[in-house]
Amino acid sequence: YNRELQHAEKMEMISELAASVAHEVRNPLQVTRGFIQLQGENKSEKEKRYLNLAIQELDRASDIITDFLTFAKPQMESIAPISLDKELKHIVGILSPLASINNGTLVMEVRTGLTIMGNSAKFKQAIINMVKNSIEALEEKGEVRLHAYAKNDEIYLHIKDTGVGMEAEEIEKLGQPYYSNKTKGTGLGLMVTYRIIQSMKGSLTFSSVKGEGTEAILRFPTADNYDQVEMPKEYE
Ligand code: ADP
Ligand code: MG
Repeated sequence: YNRELQHAEKMEMISELAASVAHEVRNPLQVTRGFIQLQGENKSEKEKRYLNLAIQELDRASDIITDFLTFAKPQMESIAPISLDKELKHIVGILSPLASINNGTLVMEVRTGLTIMGNSAKFKQAIINMVKNSIEALEEKGEVRLHAYAKNDEIYLHIKDTGVGMEAEEIEKLGQPYYSNKTKGTGLGLMVTYRIIQSMKGSLTFSSVKGEGTEAILRFPTADNYDQVEMPKEYE
């Protein structure tokens, strides 16, 4: 019996709890939203304004759950080999409609057989938060490209968009909780992403040109090499 095990058990409990809370809370939020919308019919302008505010607040709660717990399932968290092209295909499937709404296209250039270690649900959450940012950064027409390959015992994943881009000062703030430039942003997406990537012994760097676009480069140990790579201190 040692302290570290205790800590791991606690983390496990917390993430299980968070996952069930997400599931339990999402439904009542949706139902309440529906009823409020109905209330809005034949109401005065002032009343409509209040009801709209209520809906916006409900949507905000939903967005926070989305940034944290899209794929959380109330079950044990397991680390296993992840097939990169399979996970990315799933993500492209989920986000293609959002890309279309923003006049963008998602392009995937990923060959089969690239395998990394991690928890599939967590990994999807991390990448979804990034691809969503890329889509939301697009203006008029644009493209988000996912490109992955293996090099020197590492798997590289590039997420490149032709969106608004960022200044160096903005890049420095990425991952800080509540840092957001969006009117409806949570500022939590990339914080979650960074934590997940680190826990997979991976790294994430951004480069960007204002007005031209942004490229994120993720690096992970290959599944074969995973055990040889040290875990960042705070995750031991
Ligand atoms: P949110 O999306 O809720 O604002 P995030 O943590 O996901 O929070 O992102 C924080 C901020 O980083 C965004 O508000 C945006 O200004 C900036 N950002 C992240 N990714 C990109 C990108 N691909 N292009 C331009 N800006 C980005
Ligand atoms: Mg975001």
